[in-house]
Amino acid sequence: MKKFVPVKPSIYGENRESLLTALKRGGHPAFRADQILSWLYKKRVRDWNEMSNIPKSLREWLAEQWTLLPLERILCKNSSDVTDKMLFALEDHSLIETVLIRAPQIGVGQEKARHTVCVSIQVGCAYGCRFCASGLAGFKRNLSTAEVIAQLIQICHLEDEQTVRADKDYPSFDNIVFMGMGEPLANFDTLVRALEILNADWGFGFGARRITVSTSGLAPQIRQLADEAVPVRLAISLHGATDEVREQIMPINRKYPLAELLPAARYFTEQNKRMITLEFILIEDLNDSLEQAAALAEIARDLHAHVNCIPYNTVQGLPWKRPSMKRQEAFVRVLRKRGVSVTIRREKGHDIEAACGQLRLQTEKERGTLVSVE
Ligand code: SAH
Ligand code: SF4
Repeated sequence: MKKFVPVKPSIYGENRESLLTALKRGGHPAFRADQILSWLYKKRVRDWNEMSNIPKSLREWLAEQWTLLPLERILCKNSSDVTDKMLFALEDHSLIETVLIRAPQIGVGQEKARHTVCVSIQVGCAYGCRFCASGLAGFKRNLSTAEVIAQLIQICHLEDEQTVRADKDYPSFDNIVFMGMGEPLANFDTLVRALEILNADWGFGFGARRITVSTSGLAPQIRQLADEAVPVRLAISLHGATDEVREQIMPINRKYPLAELLPAARYFTEQNKRMITLEFILIEDLNDSLEQAAALAEIARDLHAHVNCIPYNTVQGLPWKRPSMKRQEAFVRVLRKRGVSVTIRREKGHDIEAACGQLRLQTEKERGTLVSVE
């Protein structure tokens, strides 16, 4: 695998332990670690010199060791009133996307917008699902932990710019979903370290139950994730309720067919003691039959899983279509009738939410820098 080695690493890749080790090596006192981490995650500084309680000599030393943000915001597309889609350039000029979704949520006697950040974990994706823009663009490289964390810092910066918030100490978003570009479980170590930084009190302090990792179904890594310290939520991109249908659109199904994937999903549920979600994109004449709905209901009941149906978002250059509303509803009815907990994505902005990878694909095409097209 092609590995990008930056000239200087970013400090957002360090955890508390590695920062302590580095400070010790540099002859600096240990108590500085928590001060530095507070500047990074609570105050979210944009410059080393903003770290006002850190002596100048240490600030200079920090700047010699690390860069602050390893990515640059190059485009922020406000496609609807509920989503901001950001395109970032990495140090090697690769492009990645991050999406902020503001879904209205009605509380008791009040209306509150629930903010979800959708992060990327790879540049492109190697899994080549036939319906997906990220897969279409091919795989370039894994992101580093710092590049994952920096996406969230950038979202905080964006929100800090847009609103005057008194509670700047806390991230303004409510959920983080690893549903952007790439396959999170194929960049496992980066994912686990990023989860630690997101969850830790010295980091974002973000609750594990508010983090969702979405996978196309890497069975062994699902088991591994179940054993990890940060008990995140899991979503599995099923998209086919039988091997025959799944195989047509998801090459991964040949490596891990349902007979391997479903027991791994069960293991995760048992370890995690939380319902997992089965994502099911509805694609016309491919997986939207009532037989598929019945088979999906069977799987969901067996796993005690929630089903999230997502009407397909058309991707330029791909033949797939979204079924009619009537057909979508008939599909969902079959699941409901069989007692399955099911939602269908209807909120505004869905056009952008589920289609991570498209903005990058479009920009790479315009620049003529697309890595490969299957
Ligand atoms: N690689 C992981 C996470 C990134 S994809 C995975 O496959 O789960 C996040 C979700 O978006 C997946 O459920 C994926 O199947 C879905 N998706 C991809 N392209 C889509 C499209 N054009 N319309 C709707 N959903 C799409
Ligand atoms: Fe990769 Fe997920 Fe897209 Fe499949 S759906 S190509 S695994 S990003």
